[in-house]
Amino acid sequence: MSSNGSRIEIPASIVVRDLAQMIEKSPIDLIKKLMTNGVMATINQAVDYDTAAIVVAEYGFEAVPEAVEEEAKEESGEVPMWRQMIAGEDKAHLKARPPVVTILGHVDHGKTSLLDAIRSTDVAAGEAGGITQHIGAYQVEMKGRLITFLDTPGHAAFTQMRARGAQGADIVILVVAADDGVMPQTREAIAHAKAARVPIVVALNKIDKPNANPDRVKQQLAEMELVPDDWGGNTMVVPVSAKQKKGIDDLLEGVLLVADSSEIKANPSGKVIGTVIEAELDKSKGVMATLLVQNGTLESGDVVVAGTAHGKLRAITDYKGKPVKKAGPSTPVAVMGLSDVPSAGDLFEVVESEKEARVIVGERLEAIKTQAQSRKKLSLEDMFSRVQAGEAKELNLIVKADVQGSLDPIITELNKLGAGEIGIKVLHAETGNIGNNDVMLAAASKAIMIGFNVQADVDARRMAEKEGVDIRLYEIIYRMTEDIEKALKGMLEPDYVEKILGKATVLQVFTASKFGRVAGCRVVDGELKRGAKVRLYRNSDIIYEGDLSSLRHEKDDVKEIRQGYECGVGFKNFADIQPGDSLVCYILE
Ligand code: GDP
Repeated sequence: MSSNGSRIEIPASIVVRDLAQMIEKSPIDLIKKLMTNGVMATINQAVDYDTAAIVVAEYGFEAVPEAVEEEAKEESGEVPMWRQMIAGEDKAHLKARPPVVTILGHVDHGKTSLLDAIRSTDVAAGEAGGITQHIGAYQVEMKGRLITFLDTPGHAAFTQMRARGAQGADIVILVVAADDGVMPQTREAIAHAKAARVPIVVALNKIDKPNANPDRVKQQLAEMELVPDDWGGNTMVVPVSAKQKKGIDDLLEGVLLVADSSEIKANPSGKVIGTVIEAELDKSKGVMATLLVQNGTLESGDVVVAGTAHGKLRAITDYKGKPVKKAGPSTPVAVMGLSDVPSAGDLFEVVESEKEARVIVGERLEAIKTQAQSRKKLSLEDMFSRVQAGEAKELNLIVKADVQGSLDPIITELNKLGAGEIGIKVLHAETGNIGNNDVMLAAASKAIMIGFNVQADVDARRMAEKEGVDIRLYEIIYRMTEDIEKALKGMLEPDYVEKILGKATVLQVFTASKFGRVAGCRVVDGELKRGAKVRLYRNSDIIYEGDLSSLRHEKDDVKEIRQGYECGVGFKNFADIQPGDSLVCYILE
């Protein structure tokens, strides 16, 4: 990387500290700038080229991609941090590592049974007495090769991990029950895997059941662009019975085949990073965490930072509970020694010293505080500016509607809108109310949630608030298309939120020559401000809404007046005021 005047060459991925050095700015300043662009990164973390280009532009630099990295560049900023780190490694040092697999699928289609069946095929695990401790991940051997399974409870965890940009799996096994077929959570799982660009191997489960109908399921999969290999497509569909433990070897072989075609590598001697699979506080042992090493080799005695937790690792054990000294890429381990309980999905890294760890955690805590203050909602209004800034090439949408009959025309309309310069991508469309999972998917894929004749569950709303997801509910198709069309043109009126400044009660009404009818009020809460908006209530009916045009305290014009004081208030073009009315003063933000 080099800089030439205001032009700088930036690699596919660059550590924040190095980037700061290149442009001769303080790393803290840079971290803040990244945050205002919605990217949360610490001094030791890497950002991708696109992100770096945007922030350096804000400092007046023009970024150009470093010449050699062309082919390594992935399609968009969706790439998890650990993948970016590995992409930044010297190719000569990359070695094949076991694929990391997660199992997704509709409830009751047999995820747990399949995980158990796979686990019990592993002879080594059996030798340990059959009592494998449950640490949220395990490995099995197939033809002398290892496969790592994430054994997290269902896909809530998968979504959460992805929402944090730390999605850990290389391959998804999608379980579909042969007697039940593609169901809502199957579709959701497909949407997740596609958004994360993780290949899918289908386990066609419950093939032992008399009413199993594999062809019907294959037809359904084909309709979702997962064309089975025996139908000439690219998706491996393996018939299995988790219950009778049949087809498991074929499934694992399928996984290895897919792994072979997807460059699953890491540098065992590189920087140690990985993802927290799960963590909890054990009364006697302290913080117990399961980590998945993704690059480098973790050793006992290493100082680790995981999210905002840190510590020197005291003991490392493998998934069988056996103490180990080292763990290389794709190895899940249980560790002790962290100061705090990190969250599942947090990225972890090994740092030089405990002192450095404390500095990083301090910065992170600070960053979280600032981010919470300046958290920008990923709203339809912001979309256009993101597209303009080159941060997004298309508008991602997740659509929920009351009935299939309305879903189809909505998607047709949206596709029409998306034919212009800025594309529209419907990541997931389904009937039913907006739930938590929908919001998590929207957060993970930076999508806007569209609801048509449906509601958003209370939990989903709360989650949307927390994750900054914009939920837009419509009852008329053209209202929705109108909004989206406006957003694509950057013309959408921003959503205003009302902020209440204060409340007052009208004590008496008098006439002033200059102002007309004036309400003599007492401020009972907060303050009143001249020029703010005001709403007048009689009993509980709103009788006036408009501007607070004049405000006087005794004989003086004032700009504002606080709780406990009396004042005279005049309203623009409104005279029907009565004692006992109450008024609320607010502004729109
Ligand atoms: P999950 O909700 O996806 O984790 O599904 P479970 O693994 O809990 O399985 C749901 C039900 O399906 C259980 O009653 C299992 O015994 C049953 N089941 C799972 N796999 C098979 C299978 O291959 N054949 C049959 N007949 N039943 C199965």
